[in-house]
Amino acid sequence: MQTDQGATRCPQCAHQLPADPLYVTWCDRCDWNVDPTGPTDKAPAWRLRLEHRLADTLYRELEQGKIHRPGWDAARVAAYLLSTVILLLPLAGLLGGIALLAFYRPLWLSAPLSIIPFGVALLLRPRANQLDPDTQLIHREQAPLLFDLLDKIAAAVGTTPVGAVALDAEPNVYYARVGWRFTPVIGIGLAAWMGLRPQERVAVLAHELGHGKNSDARHGWVVNSAAAILDELDETFSEQPYDRYREEVAYLTDSGTATSLITRFVNATVGGAVRGVQWVLTMIDLRSRQRAEYLADRRSAEIAGSEAGARALERLVLMDSSYRALQQAVRFGSEVDPLEAAARTVNEIPTREVERRLRLSGLRDSRIDASHPPTNLRVKLIRARPAQSALVVLANDQSRAIDRELAVPGQAVLKELRSELR
Ligand SMILES: [Zn+2]
Ligand SMILES: [Zn+2]
Repeated sequence: MQTDQGATRCPQCAHQLPADPLYVTWCDRCDWNVDPTGPTDKAPAWRLRLEHRLADTLYRELEQGKIHRPGWDAARVAAYLLSTVILLLPLAGLLGGIALLAFYRPLWLSAPLSIIPFGVALLLRPRANQLDPDTQLIHREQAPLLFDLLDKIAAAVGTTPVGAVALDAEPNVYYARVGWRFTPVIGIGLAAWMGLRPQERVAVLAHELGHGKNSDARHGWVVNSAAAILDELDETFSEQPYDRYREEVAYLTDSGTATSLITRFVNATVGGAVRGVQWVLTMIDLRSRQRAEYLADRRSAEIAGSEAGARALERLVLMDSSYRALQQAVRFGSEVDPLEAAARTVNEIPTREVERRLRLSGLRDSRIDASHPPTNLRVKLIRARPAQSALVVLANDQSRAIDRELAVPGQAVLKELRSELR
């Protein structure tokens, strides 16, 4: 099928296709080979259909302008309620332990018994968000221009200014509330940052600070803490390598059949219930999570301008390439600056490949555990709304000056990455 002009014909619809040896050959007419490796997860078909339907309904509601403002919708309230009930478990453990010590006598018996409820409380206690110890923390005085930009965007969004910036090498930018004081922190991954043009940087930061304004991070903390408790319970009430080992020993010594039956029964009933609740929580949180992403995108378009908002999203599907280029340059210690290599790789990706990855995101990222809605729908929604001009503008030279501020902590990040790759 390959012709000598570097073109080929689609085996499905015979449409003429350009063939570039560096990128996947695919058909923009019938979507042939958009996903050459095929989907990676093996969820049952009914579940995929349900998840797709949820994502579609939400998209249509947003497109028709039925959802205007962030805040409490039914899905968020339900996710909060369910999470609160789950978060009461460690509290019940704590109170149970105290009650045992206070009211149950003799003390020599109640004291050791109270270890059980106290242990449950300790194991299931909610934890504050912590930053990865490998990140480089940047404070206000180290990067005045970057913080000036962040302050401007935060003011335009209407949220608290960030307390610190966490720099790492990853291909993403995030917003988090860290520690028990819930300090707002913006995480900047160099692989993502280097692949963005100045106004796209404004768009990405505005999206993240938009999460701050919509209190998505607090909501996320409550739901994630509940999910962590469920994970812990799931691990306790499902078959572990130790159980299997014990069963084998029991088989050999012809003892312990009853114990193994009880274990299996508890795993099936209690474990089954835990996994059921886990799934329900993920389902009701999906809508609230995806809605939060769309609303943060809307905020991003208002502040950076619609065009930059949409383009920034289109760049996100390229960040894996940027990260690979960064890793390669770090690993092989080439002449090129790794950060330059990452930026160049993203800028060299042809529009056709960008389009393929956007379509791929539509095929794959409707999954419930994908934290974001499909990128192609997010771009479509920004472009479907009336165009907006930028409220905060970052000029090229300002953007370069920010990169110079990031140079020293950036070198520390690359050094860390180098030692990790070794
Ligand atoms: Zn085709
Ligand atoms: Zn987001």
